[in-house]
Amino acid sequence: MKIICIGRNYAAHAAELGNEIQKEPVIFMKPDSAVFRQRDAFYLPDWTNDVQYELEVVVRINRLGKNIESRFASKYYQEFTIGIDFTARDVQSQLKAKGLPWEKAKAFDQSAVLGEFLSADEYDLSNLNFQLYKNGDLVQDGNTSLMLHNIPNIIEHCSQYFTLKIGDLIFTGTPEGVGPVTSRDLLEGYIEGEKVLNVKIK
Ligand code: ZN
Repeated sequence: MKIICIGRNYAAHAAELGNEIQKEPVIFMKPDSAVFRQRDAFYLPDWTNDVQYELEVVVRINRLGKNIESRFASKYYQEFTIGIDFTARDVQSQLKAKGLPWEKAKAFDQSAVLGEFLSADEYDLSNLNFQLYKNGDLVQDGNTSLMLHNIPNIIEHCSQYFTLKIGDLIFTGTPEGVGPVTSRDLLEGYIEGEKVLNVKIK
């Protein structure tokens, strides 16, 4: 199983980090060892001083596919959720400044948090509201209609390079409002008003 992540997919988020918008999706990956086990608390790694949350819509691939056309993309997932792409922003900034790959900052253990999966048939993934609350305060308020590359286009683009396999996850990028977590924070994520994600920071 692999986790494909899209970067800079909402203009307001690209702007808050001072990043240019690219014509093609920005892609990076996390290994399967990055998956967070919901029963555990998230323990802040000791090699970073700036772990930040990025709330993202996540689709789970349910069919093998290569060179998938966007008009058929919805046949390749049945379930979706929201997840957190935890990012060691200090490490990522150092790597970016040197033009080096981001993996240490993005693909570390427990960095891919997943909420409860929902049926894609029951929601409009092209116009989906999703929110993150930190200690009860709304910090991210996204809608998938603001994506620069929508889910069908992401699937078409990624599957040109990587065969999509059953169980693969695609993190589709974060809206604006990313920020740091500290010990004892509580993160809660909602899809259309329904709570599907709960993470305690240790
Ligand atoms: Zn992200």
